[in-house]
Amino acid sequence: MNSLENLSFDQERALIRVDFNVPLDDNGNVTDATRIAAALPTIKHILAAGGSCVLMSHLGRPKGNDPKLSLSQIVSTLEKHLGQAVHFCDEVVGEKAEAQALALQPGEVLLLENLRFHDEETKGDEAFSAALAKLGTVYVNDAFGTAHRAHASTTIVAQFFAEKKCFGHLLAAEIEAIDKVMTSGEKPVLAILGGAKVSSKITIIENILSKVDHLIIGGGMAFTFIKAQGGSIGKSICEDDKMPLALSILEQAEKLGVKIHLPVDVRAGQDFSNNTPQQVFPIDQIPNDWEGMDAGPASEESFDAVVKQAKTILWNGPLGVFEFPNFNTGTRSLGDSIVAQTEAGAFSLVGGGDSVAAVKLFGLEDKVSYVSTGGGAMLESLEGKTLPGIAAILA
Ligand code: AMP
Repeated sequence: MNSLENLSFDQERALIRVDFNVPLDDNGNVTDATRIAAALPTIKHILAAGGSCVLMSHLGRPKGNDPKLSLSQIVSTLEKHLGQAVHFCDEVVGEKAEAQALALQPGEVLLLENLRFHDEETKGDEAFSAALAKLGTVYVNDAFGTAHRAHASTTIVAQFFAEKKCFGHLLAAEIEAIDKVMTSGEKPVLAILGGAKVSSKITIIENILSKVDHLIIGGGMAFTFIKAQGGSIGKSICEDDKMPLALSILEQAEKLGVKIHLPVDVRAGQDFSNNTPQQVFPIDQIPNDWEGMDAGPASEESFDAVVKQAKTILWNGPLGVFEFPNFNTGTRSLGDSIVAQTEAGAFSLVGGGDSVAAVKLFGLEDKVSYVSTGGGAMLESLEGKTLPGIAAILA
């Protein structure tokens, strides 16, 4: 398979799908340039190898041409990060874009207008993909966040590049991190799944059960398991219709020799608010008018002991309502345990929207091995799906 390292970029024009879907303020200023900074290693590699770059991305969800979502607004931020001038084309495909792409000299960069100004992008339109393909001689996909979409720029365009296509650094690193957890990681492998609902994580649980040695189930999800086993969970969040499924997961895990760890106690509140009175109860003895909102101190300790045994760790989903400062202790404590175990040599991958928000909130994002940038793409990978954007490069 081709990679950024073994493909020649000398005198080539690389058409790169990046993820510049960055937040903007009301004046069109970039408020968080993380995604722009993350794309630099791939761009710089190609420029240093004697190539030029045609960058394409979406920004927001425009309906047709929308100046408020023009990528022209990010040019100055990109220039600052890249340390050089960037050409901008106010069109995506067509004569003007082709002329500007052809005029590029080695070492130069061109940014195209927002791909989603054309609805052919999300439709995966073949003619639009062919028009995009005219802009480059090599195709590079470096956008993990959209790799689960069979859009023109993420998937369909790849078919016009026979051998001359590869993953960028960012996408390659995402694939490697997920692969470490799912297939090649050092044992024991631990997955920690939290968040609100069993139903949204069930496909992940089913897929990873045969791949892990330990599984911590925390957050709101845990209560369905506790109630299914006969526990009293008060007015904690629960999906009654998923209780048989919870029992069958516990059974399946036992057959597979996978240890499932549930919280043993809980920090509960009387209503769903930050300042509600708080009390700790055993996880299966929550009084009727109380609601479990965070892992309790004994759970923190028992989860810490599990994390300490693991060599490979996947974390998806918070252990409580971490958005309320009074109920973020369990999630924070788990983050600290993972950081300590990472420092002791384990590989740790944090992915999926809310756990990423949590590690950022606690300032832990640089202290775990890898934080995944793609919410939906990450979840679909963990569900065992082959992402179309990845398959298109491997084809
Ligand atoms: P998810 O998107 O499925 O990972 O769920 C994340 C959400 O789960 C966060 O917004 C948390 O506030 C919520 N959550 C975690 N624990 C609980 C709980 N015990 N009760 C209600 N919501 C919870």
